[in-house]
Amino acid sequence: MLSPILLVKKTSNKKTGPMAVTIANAPGTCPSECPFFNAGCYAQQGPSGIHSIRAKQAANDLGAFIRDLPHAGKIRHFVSGDLMLDDEVNVPLINEMVSAHADRPDVKGYGYTHAHKRPEISAQHLNSAESLTYNASCESDEEVETALKQGWPVVRVVAKDTPKVVEMPMYLQVVCPATYKDDVSCDKCMLCAKKDRKRRDGKPVVVAFPVHGAQSAKAAANVLAKQVAA
Ligand code: SF4
Repeated sequence: MLSPILLVKKTSNKKTGPMAVTIANAPGTCPSECPFFNAGCYAQQGPSGIHSIRAKQAANDLGAFIRDLPHAGKIRHFVSGDLMLDDEVNVPLINEMVSAHADRPDVKGYGYTHAHKRPEISAQHLNSAESLTYNASCESDEEVETALKQGWPVVRVVAKDTPKVVEMPMYLQVVCPATYKDDVSCDKCMLCAKKDRKRRDGKPVVVAFPVHGAQSAKAAANVLAKQVAA
């Protein structure tokens, strides 16, 4: 089951910095349980939304694209979109991505999935290649703790005014520095590409993203509703 993907060798996206990116259609490749599904998703707005629509038509060969990247290259997987197709886990796509990264241990790749609760997706398989880190995207504390126990590197969405560092009982929550510092981009930081990110005492580090985008009020309401319900 292959889905159209835009493959970009070097993006001009300021947030990621110059690196390779892949773009899939949102919400066509997203899980329906994502709280932003057709409800405040940044990937359906502005330039991301335009790329996401173009990705509907794009041809792709993700494996060959990863294998052909320059030595020690960096790649952010699915700036928009996820690992699904028509609300089913795209297992062939996942296998192709993992296998290509296993062939290229020098190419550092990372991505995020809202589909981490699907039984066909496992933290261990998606993170089995040394050069690929796949994060579980969570919203509530309960979700974060469950994902950590399952072995996922975890990121989460938080309210706009959340402090930069919050000591949680099970993890340390750190706000992504690119959200408040102009001189930080992913290619310099690469924190999300560290699958075993921990503080010195062994406490896992969870990266937090304050809600953003033109529909942030809608997104914030969805996240808040989920946090209250959890
Ligand atoms: S924490 Fe670092 S790698 Fe992750 S999104 Fe922010 S800048 Fe990029």
